[in-house]
Amino acid sequence: MILPRFQYHQPESLDEAVSLAQSCAGDFDFIAGGTDLLPNYKSRLNPRGNVISLSGIKELFEISPERIGAMARLAEMITNAPLKHKLPVLPHTAALIATPLLRESGTVGGNLLLDTRCYYFNQSWFWRDSKDYCLKAEGNTCLVVPQESVCYATYSGDLAPVFLVLGAKFVLAGPEGKREVAGENFFTHDGITRHVKLPEEILTHVLIPKEAQALRTDYQKLRVRDAMDFPVLGVAVALSLNERTLERLHIGLTGVATTPLLCEAFTQAVIGDQLTEDLIAGLAEDIMNSVRPYRNVALSPQYRKAMIAVYIKRMLRQFMPVD
Ligand SMILES: Cc1cc2nc3c(=O)[nH]c(=O)nc-3n(C[C@H](O)[C@H](O)[C@H](O)COP(=O)(O)OP(=O)(O)OC[C@H]3O[C@@H](n4cnc5c(N)ncnc54)[C@H](O)[C@@H]3O)c2cc1C
Repeated sequence: MILPRFQYHQPESLDEAVSLAQSCAGDFDFIAGGTDLLPNYKSRLNPRGNVISLSGIKELFEISPERIGAMARLAEMITNAPLKHKLPVLPHTAALIATPLLRESGTVGGNLLLDTRCYYFNQSWFWRDSKDYCLKAEGNTCLVVPQESVCYATYSGDLAPVFLVLGAKFVLAGPEGKREVAGENFFTHDGITRHVKLPEEILTHVLIPKEAQALRTDYQKLRVRDAMDFPVLGVAVALSLNERTLERLHIGLTGVATTPLLCEAFTQAVIGDQLTEDLIAGLAEDIMNSVRPYRNVALSPQYRKAMIAVYIKRMLRQFMPVD
């Protein structure tokens, strides 16, 4: 498929990029690695007349365990020695994203901000034309939940649930200056707007609190083909134990809702309890029952929902102290 025509811009500073965005009156997209944006453009999924590259803004490329630039490549995350040593769950997760070639171009910021996915959206123009289009591209109705006025496309990024369980904050730079948003407040339940970032704002960095380095962590994903596919369920866990007692516990999910989910209502209720087989089984069941995946990505909603409990049990059991 051929890319539609657009004007390409390559600013060299954040201020220049934000001014350019303001001058485009909404008809623009920022581009990082392009591995999500350009396939969508080729399918004529909401292409814009201007594409503003972030590749000339040097300050966005840094990587350290406490501060990761939005333009850091996924491939760099995998090999970065301090990150491997202090927050191994991040290189581990990055290595599960897409393919080696895509990870050479794909960035941390692009992964967090990637477009939501849906069976009725991620199709060619020809296919969508035959279905009368969906709310997310050219249509008036969400074809997944027609009685609702919001888009139910599924959030499918791998890194977001991991950043959420680590307590990360996202730094945005825009016309009004810089601001920080806690990861858990960043995403919004609408597959079209997706997050609280304003269109002209640039995600500059992810900040990770130093305490996160003391947590025991894991991320596992369910997908159709292990070699390359998006998660149809991803589970991130971060915890700390005092012998058997839970001092901290965070569980994040992806691939099962319009946003990544941080299950604090359930995990904070068990802080101070012993990490036992019964606690794990009850927690896994409660979290599974609170989630309602939709029929808009691969594998059935029933199967993906059942697998939430399976994955949570499997992942928490590995942290149970042996007698
Ligand atoms: C075959 C295939 C398999 C894939 N598998 C996976 C997978 O398993 N898991 C997964 O998570 N992803 C997967 N992806 C999606 C994608 O490759 C990755 O998510 C990648 O990290 C996206 O990063 P990017 O830099 O290429 O984003 P881009 O395509 O450049 O951008 C994505 C979106 O983010 C916006 N954006 C990017 N950076 C910024 C910023 N700093 N500030 C403001 N806006 C910004 C862009 O405007 C765009 O809307 C897959 C893609 C393909 C084609």
